[in-house]
Amino acid sequence: MDPLIEGYRKFRSEIWPAERARYEALAHWGQSPEAMVIACSDSRVDPQTVFGAVPGELFVVRNVAALVPPYGPDTGLHGTSAALEFGVKVLKVARLVVLGHRECGGVRALAYGPPAQARDFIASWVEIGKPALRAAGQAPEPRLDRIEAEVVRLSLANLITFPWIAESVHAGKLELQGFLFDIHTGVLLSVGTDGVTPIE
Ligand SMILES: [Zn+2]
Repeated sequence: MDPLIEGYRKFRSEIWPAERARYEALAHWGQSPEAMVIACSDSRVDPQTVFGAVPGELFVVRNVAALVPPYGPDTGLHGTSAALEFGVKVLKVARLVVLGHRECGGVRALAYGPPAQARDFIASWVEIGKPALRAAGQAPEPRLDRIEAEVVRLSLANLITFPWIAESVHAGKLELQGFLFDIHTGVLLSVGTDGVTPIE
């Protein structure tokens, strides 16, 4: 049995009949999500599940460790920045959310190096997070939970380096928010400049 095809059949028989009108409207009118989420690729932290969203509500880009690189247009291949450009300039989302999480393998790779069998891309990608490593402090030893919060703060800071994001934020048209999802407890934590607070 192919679990993906089985899942698809379940979607068609159980979800599609109830959601058909929504999909048809989205296909006809196009998408106009209110929020864009930059999340980790981790299979345990699905933004649509965590935020209780339905199709059409969230424009999502996922990558290793939910990292946003600093603005730097060149001939390189910038998947996350391309998604940001579309979300902010074309879809004109009102909120940009960075969703990090506890037990993040990407943050672990940043702190301790990538897994030995995966050396082609991860090391240079998580380099983006180096300033977060410094901000979390090294003594007596780097604490992953502190680094996870600093990575979210760094991604939020890097968002502001995109001139059209800074412009929209300053014009009051775009709000930036950082969160961490705790897989152990299912609790969402708000990441502020001076601390991490559970959402009631
Ligand atoms: Zn992760």
